[in-house]
This record gives sequence, structure tokens and C-alpha cells, in this order.
Amino acid sequence: MGGDLMSLAVPGVRGLRPYEPGKPLEELEREYGIKQAIKLASNENPLGPGAKALAAVRGELEELARYPDGNGFALKAALARKHGVASAQITLGNGSNEVLEFVARTFVLPEHEVVFSEHAFAVYPLVTQAIGAKAVVTAAKDWGHDLDAMAAAITARTRVVFVANPNNPTGTWINAARLEQFLQRAPAHVVVVVDEAYAEYVGERDYPNTIPWVARFPNLVVTRTFSKVHGLAGLRVGYGVSSPEMADLLNRVREPFNVNSLALAAAEAALGDDAHVSRSLAMNRDGMQQLVRAFDDMRLVHIPSVANFISVDVGRAAAGVYEALLRQGVIVRPVANYGMPNHLRVTVGRPEENKRFIEALRKAVISDS
Ligand code: PMP
Repeated sequence: MGGDLMSLAVPGVRGLRPYEPGKPLEELEREYGIKQAIKLASNENPLGPGAKALAAVRGELEELARYPDGNGFALKAALARKHGVASAQITLGNGSNEVLEFVARTFVLPEHEVVFSEHAFAVYPLVTQAIGAKAVVTAAKDWGHDLDAMAAAITARTRVVFVANPNNPTGTWINAARLEQFLQRAPAHVVVVVDEAYAEYVGERDYPNTIPWVARFPNLVVTRTFSKVHGLAGLRVGYGVSSPEMADLLNRVREPFNVNSLALAAAEAALGDDAHVSRSLAMNRDGMQQLVRAFDDMRLVHIPSVANFISVDVGRAAAGVYEALLRQGVIVRPVANYGMPNHLRVTVGRPEENKRFIEALRKAVISDS
């Protein structure tokens, strides 16, 4: 029966390998009998949600019998104000992942091609494969996207290009001049998604302010999320900003109540909590320095990252080091499935979590050598 069902599945789904999330804390505690494990594996905000978002969720609990506002009126209005765009330019998603999927479902047929980079975020191949379309993967340059190679990979069959800025799991980024030039070169039949899940963390002066560009590029979709700096990953809420024409199309494939009422309320409140964002950014800056210093000290080479995680080359197949960290109650992310078998990706945590990871890594690297 299993075999028969498999043959019934559409071709794209048959070849699909599900997304591998970071190991949940409960699973590690169950499997290894470890108490007080720490998880630095899913680029979550170590400070959690802000007080304003939590209060908004509590205030919404009594209303759980009601459907959420299917149009997300209040959240879209708050986002529109923040970004200086119209509400009609926003598409709300169940996480920004869902917006990436909307783009694929709106524009891509099995005979089409989708372009993205080697080592790019795993959801791009996933949404491409689910449709049965062809993934065109360009070689990375210094671990980051090679936009010239990506532009050269565009053909008449290309419908979507995914650009992660910064990229996960490499933490690499693209400056404004290069990205703008790429958008100018992208033909009109191609939708360019600039995935900015980690945008808030980037402090570089040349990091592009892409949202105003949607007025010039009708085929551009910029995606953002409340999962990272706003600390709301568990609620699943993200959004796309684009031309109104683009948003109208993306909203057609959206399920009516794709963003739940707690998420809508929390996200709106989070937008007004600059203090929480500032605290989160400050902690990330310090933690990133703490990790980089430790890697240098251990003579481990890292990929310079502008986000809230960093990938480090452990100098051998990383699976053994990953296991040795698990046995010490520290969960990080193996990235062999991203074509990076010698790297581990670690999320910047609280100072004491980073310290515990660093000590565990020291032991793991020694015991595994
Ligand atoms: N884009 C990138 C580059 C990411 O790393 C992530 C989170 N892993 C997402 C998008 C999606 O996040 P979410 O669906 O939680 O908004």
C-alpha cells in the first residue's frame, strides 16, 4: 500500500525531503536523559518575546473562540506605517516561509525554473521541488551568493529567483549597489524574492534599504519575519512587501485565516516595542564577539556573519562534534544538508549559553580529534 500511495503522489512530492528543523530540547532531554540542555539551533531570540507582545497575547486569549481577522487589518496598517507603504502592498504569512511558498505557487509551474544559490536557505529548494519545477543552483562565492552567476542562470523558463540577505546558514550579505544592479538586470518575467528574515540584525552601512525599491520594481517581493529579532517564532507570522499588484496575486493563494489571532496581536505589539529590539540587538552583538573570539582562540575558521547565528568550520566532518555537543546538552545545527559537512551553525545565545557552548565545543573538538 505504501508503494502504491507513493506512485499516486505528484512527482515533485515523491522526491521531496522534508525540512530538518533543529532538534527540540525535549527530544534531547528524552533521548539522552539530559537535564537543562540548551538549544542554539534555530536562530531564535534568546531573550524571548518582549513584554508588549506577551501582554497582547494574554489580552487576546479570551477571544480564542473567534476566527482571526482574515485580512489582518490592524497588523497590516501598523506595518504600512512602519515601512511607509500602503496596506495593499503587504502579504501576511504563517511565518515568512509561507510567503516564500505563496510566490512559488503563484508563479511556478513544473516546466519552470527557480534560481537560488548554493548554501542558501533550505526552504527555496523545498518549495521548488514541491511543485516539481527545476531548481537551478548557482555556485557560491566566498560562501555568499554570486549575483553575476545568478543573473547568468536566468533563462526564458525562470520564474523566481530567491536571494537571502543575509543568508542562512552562512550569515553572508549583499550590499545595496550589487543588489540594485541585480534587480535592474533581472528580466520582467522573473519574480525576485529578497528574503530579509535577519535584516534587523545587520549593522553594515551598505546594507540595502530594499522596501522603498518595491515602488520601482513591480517584480520584487521583500520578505520579513517576526520569528527572529521579535522573538515570536512559535506563533508563526511573517510578511511580504511588494507592489500592490504583486500582493493582490499572492493574497489569492493565501488561506483565509492563515495567521492566527494571537500572532496578529503579538506582531502588532512587537512593532511598537523598540526597547526589546534594541536589547536583543545589543545582546546579539556582544554574543557574536564572544563566539568569534572563542573560535579564533581555538583556531577554528568561521564565516563572518551579520545575523544572529554563525557557521564555524570544525576542521573535520562535523557530525561527530555535533554528537559530542549533544551529549553535553548543547544543541547546535549540523549543516551537511546545505553542502557544508565540516561546519556547524550556532545561534548567538545569552552570554551564559554562549559560554556553555564554547566550553562544550572545546571538549568536543579535543575528544573528537
Ligand atoms: N528565511 C530565512 C533565511 C530563514 O533562515 C528563515 C528561518 N529559518 C525564514 C526565512 C523563515 O522564518 P519564518 O517562517 O519563521 O518567518
